[in-house]
Amino acid sequence: MRKARYGWLVSIPFFAVHVAAVLGVGLVGFSWQGVVVALVLYYVRMWGVTAGYHRYFSHRTYRTGRAFQLFLALLAQTSMQKGALWWAAHHRGHHKYADTPEDVHSFRTYGFWYSHVGWILDRETEATEWDRIGDLKRYPELVWLNKWHLVPGITYAVATYLVGGWTGFVWGFLVATTMLWHGTFFINSLAHTFGRRRYPTTDDGKNSFLLAVLTLGEGWHNNHHYYPRSVRQGFFWWELDVSYYVLRALSWTGLVWDLHVPSERVKAGKLSPTIVAAAKRKRAESAFAPSGATSPVVSTVSTVTEALASAAASVASVAAASRTSTADAE
Ligand SMILES: [Zn+2]
Ligand SMILES: [Zn+2]
Repeated sequence: MRKARYGWLVSIPFFAVHVAAVLGVGLVGFSWQGVVVALVLYYVRMWGVTAGYHRYFSHRTYRTGRAFQLFLALLAQTSMQKGALWWAAHHRGHHKYADTPEDVHSFRTYGFWYSHVGWILDRETEATEWDRIGDLKRYPELVWLNKWHLVPGITYAVATYLVGGWTGFVWGFLVATTMLWHGTFFINSLAHTFGRRRYPTTDDGKNSFLLAVLTLGEGWHNNHHYYPRSVRQGFFWWELDVSYYVLRALSWTGLVWDLHVPSERVKAGKLSPTIVAAAKRKRAESAFAPSGATSPVVSTVSTVTEALASAAASVASVAAASRTSTADAE
């Protein structure tokens, strides 16, 4: 087992937010209004993590247009879990090597602390693994956001202060973000430790109702490792999966489409572990590009010129937002 080399530039702000959250609540005082604000902003951004970072960028379990793709990256990155491309690349590696020594956050190999948070602070995992995200790195706005990954989070932090003053900042940013980090990280640590297994996968992923409540449906982790192509992680009606319900509702508006759900055969466990492993390898090799998929650009705008104009506008607005947030931060 390799020795972790923690990056202090990442670790110090990470722990500082925890300390500031506790001190901040002491300073502004406890209030039920604050708790509600924290919970709402936790769950809105948790949706960005699960529907954005995870089900869209990492697994491409549904399709959308370029503008909504950018929105998903911005919303997910307000969680301050690095760039959508960084997240997707590491997560694809997790599925490829799940619970082997090559898996960067295997509970089986590295234990609770490292699989929960140590790996994300380790300098070994700092770089984006570009060879795993051939399908995503062709979007300049995503590459830009990956480089300046703190911009959405800092902008969000400033917004909580501007809207709600110090109370808004403490509950909406410090407390909600700390909860969001651990809520997400539980899937890498606890969802590989506690719960039930329905499908005989080669990894340790487990199903847990409690984790599904905390993460809007990510707790059905055994289902997910068994069939990662599915946009729906709660395979049955009693398996609560709010991220999927929201995506299904969005599909009625035409904002997202081609939601891939498991067939009855898949749900009945008819895929053998060997078939699952072979499919995993194949997906990893083809950089997870959905077969026969047309470019989201072509799907959303009718001409290439319009696509380029829309991309330029997106980049310009992100750059403007970054200038504003930098000025505000100063
Ligand atoms: Zn996993
Ligand atoms: Zn996954």
